[in-house]
Amino acid sequence: MHCPRCGARLAQAPPTACGACAYAIYVNPRPTGTGIIVERGRFLAIRRVRDPRAGWWDLPGGFCDAFEHPADAAVREAREELGLAIELGELVGMYIGTYEFQGEALPVLDCFWLASVVSGELRLDPSEASEYEWFPLADPPEMAFPTMDAALRRVALRLVP
Ligand SMILES: [Zn+2]
Repeated sequence: MHCPRCGARLAQAPPTACGACAYAIYVNPRPTGTGIIVERGRFLAIRRVRDPRAGWWDLPGGFCDAFEHPADAAVREAREELGLAIELGELVGMYIGTYEFQGEALPVLDCFWLASVVSGELRLDPSEASEYEWFPLADPPEMAFPTMDAALRRVALRLVP
């Protein structure tokens, strides 16, 4: 790993300081926001078209932009990926996961909310997802990321009789 400021090779993994320019380097989890849209015991999943995990079932959500709150990111991503206005309900939970990107395994903090559709007609962004499916909470497929499996288990415990 190299210093993001001066490019010198780091003597050890972060947290550390660059030996060349003294820049302090930390690796922190990056927050994401995701809405678990539930209707009549089923949740909405979309099939990823992009790596990492292209072809796997996914939930609508994504990384926060700069100072964006994860809840706002969840609402924005549903609008962009699904064409839907959603309203968030209860926080389901926050989970630490891994996101493989540009050859690095980034730590992420995945935040999930229950969500419901307020308005709009489901229209996938083809650069994000190839199809959608409503799966029973009681019998979900394996999702793209284990944090999603964990969040869906928690929702099922809460909502499935
Ligand atoms: Zn440096």
